Amino acid sequence: MIRHGITFSLVVAVMALAPAVERPFSATERSQVPERLTWNLADLYPSDAAWTEAKDAFQKRLPEMAPYKGHLGDSPQSLYAGLSTMMSMDKDLSRLMSYASQLADQDTKVSKSQEMLQGIEQVAASFGAAVAFVRPEILSMDPAKVDQFVAAEPKLKDYKPYLDNILRMKAHTLNAEGEKLVAQANGQMGGSAESIYSIFTNADLPYSKDVKLSTGETIPLLDAAAYTKYRASNNRADRDEVFKAFWTRYNDFHRTLGTSLYSQVKAHIFNKEARHYDSCLQAALDRNNIPVEVYTQLISDVHANLPTLYRYLKLRQRMMGVDQLRYEDLYASIVKDVDLHYTPEQAMDLTLKACAPLGKTYVDDLKKGYDSRWVDFMPSTGKKSGAYSNGAAYDVHPYQLLNFMGGYDDVSTLAHESGHSMHSYLSNTHQPYVTADYSIFVAEVASTCNENLLLHYMLKNEAKDDATRLYLLGSYLDGLRQTLFRQTLFAEFEMKIHQMAEKGETLTGDNLSKLYLSLLKEYYGDAQGVCKVDDLYGVEWAYIPHFYYNFYVYQYATSLVASTSIANMIREGEAAKPPSMKARDAYITMLSSGSSKYPIDLLKGAGVDMTTSAPFSAAMKEMNKVMDEIEAILNKQAAAKTAGRK
Ligand SMILES: [Zn+2]
Repeated sequence: MIRHGITFSLVVAVMALAPAVERPFSATERSQVPERLTWNLADLYPSDAAWTEAKDAFQKRLPEMAPYKGHLGDSPQSLYAGLSTMMSMDKDLSRLMSYASQLADQDTKVSKSQEMLQGIEQVAASFGAAVAFVRPEILSMDPAKVDQFVAAEPKLKDYKPYLDNILRMKAHTLNAEGEKLVAQANGQMGGSAESIYSIFTNADLPYSKDVKLSTGETIPLLDAAAYTKYRASNNRADRDEVFKAFWTRYNDFHRTLGTSLYSQVKAHIFNKEARHYDSCLQAALDRNNIPVEVYTQLISDVHANLPTLYRYLKLRQRMMGVDQLRYEDLYASIVKDVDLHYTPEQAMDLTLKACAPLGKTYVDDLKKGYDSRWVDFMPSTGKKSGAYSNGAAYDVHPYQLLNFMGGYDDVSTLAHESGHSMHSYLSNTHQPYVTADYSIFVAEVASTCNENLLLHYMLKNEAKDDATRLYLLGSYLDGLRQTLFRQTLFAEFEMKIHQMAEKGETLTGDNLSKLYLSLLKEYYGDAQGVCKVDDLYGVEWAYIPHFYYNFYVYQYATSLVASTSIANMIREGEAAKPPSMKARDAYITMLSSGSSKYPIDLLKGAGVDMTTSAPFSAAMKEMNKVMDEIEAILNKQAAAKTAGRK
């Protein structure tokens, strides 16, 4: 299957710093939500009956692939016929899946929708089995022959990126028997470590039972959700208690959790060896054809810019009014709660205005989307939580699921998901189906670029008073801390533990904690007295499920670096005299390119070369500018206070 990839959400919500605000909206029954705030699934199929009819028709098509098995390499025409049949079926299936999964998500209580979803998932599995021969058959072809086919059959031209992307893996592909063994090994054993980790930490890990807060309240069970809630407490003694209790419990099991993570790393080593890669890192990045330098560049950029993180930490210390900042202080709120409330209409209006630098066509298309009910806004009982954009219905339009509660972060989420939706819309409009999808490496650029534009629009036009500015700037700054620095620390840890294991070193809970602690101390400036890190927190690695996702987290950092850099270039172009639309046009071209080029080349086209320091420098420039502005406001407030006392 081409379209249905998984993305893992950030452990830390970027807006975690923002204090909980009173929400004007809460969940009601779906039937009470005004129609204009619901998505229009009728654009996919006019009725459930029409969907069922389309599903039956699709099922009848399943045998269509069989005649091509063993014959893709016969002639350019048979290769084209096989691939185009598969793509046309995949396109229909994606539309069927979209309808069923969105219907199921809008109200999980409706069992008929769940049955429809299960039904189509079974059909998808049959389709997967019917096309399973395609990839190995292409891989068995000589690349020169494939090139000759493409030259001889013009209709194959659209399929060239797809074919190239498969063929570049040839050096890392085994003979049929070898592939079968690797697939069996991965299928039977590859996921074991993660399953054990997940069951252990979610179900069996005994959490601390009696954490007593300063209010006299005893937290009955300090699990991960309670930890995330109470680590943000404004009472320092409470934070200390919560950290100590939570990490002591993890530390009690660090040997087991270390063995579990080591098992996962060994599975990566097995694949690296079997597929003849130099390192696990190279093997993982090769999936999206990302050069290893992009990864190592990110890590060295972060190290070179630790002084910027230290500046942030000192600013946090000043705003919190503590004489020594400690690791326990990083989640407490540094900005006063401000009353920012928005209706869905205001959120759409703000997002459209904020996207103005992307050009009139972008804004008009997005507005048309809002007006024609792309978005399912309101929370309702039984609705899936969180937010997503689904652009899989190629010849219909993208959809968004939100749970809009009326806070600023909800507006930001709309801007974020609208970035994904417009990326899908533009790629679906400009690309043939085979290259209309896009990889996660570029996906989060499109979404976070819009968040950046929204923030700058707010600062320029809406947030006039200091309290609101501090709130927006402070939240943004903490997002940068968590996404650029914390995620890169994870990425560095992940790289180092694989290197240790590749050298034959055994990973244990003890040496994992030792390594993690040394990174924590370095990143947070412990030796320089910037932020003190207690040795106990070396076990934090055991809490991060993403270490089981095979070099995934670095993309959070790289996408934010790329989007910050792109948004800056677009603003600079706008402000130039005469204004230059070069950066904007290059970015829109990237959004319209789907997967017709490799992610790293797409970004290069948009003006960001991720193998250099330039994009990271642009992000750091912005981070420093935000800190300048916060300091100016604080200095002004301090001066006013002094003047008031005189
Ligand atoms: Zn996203």
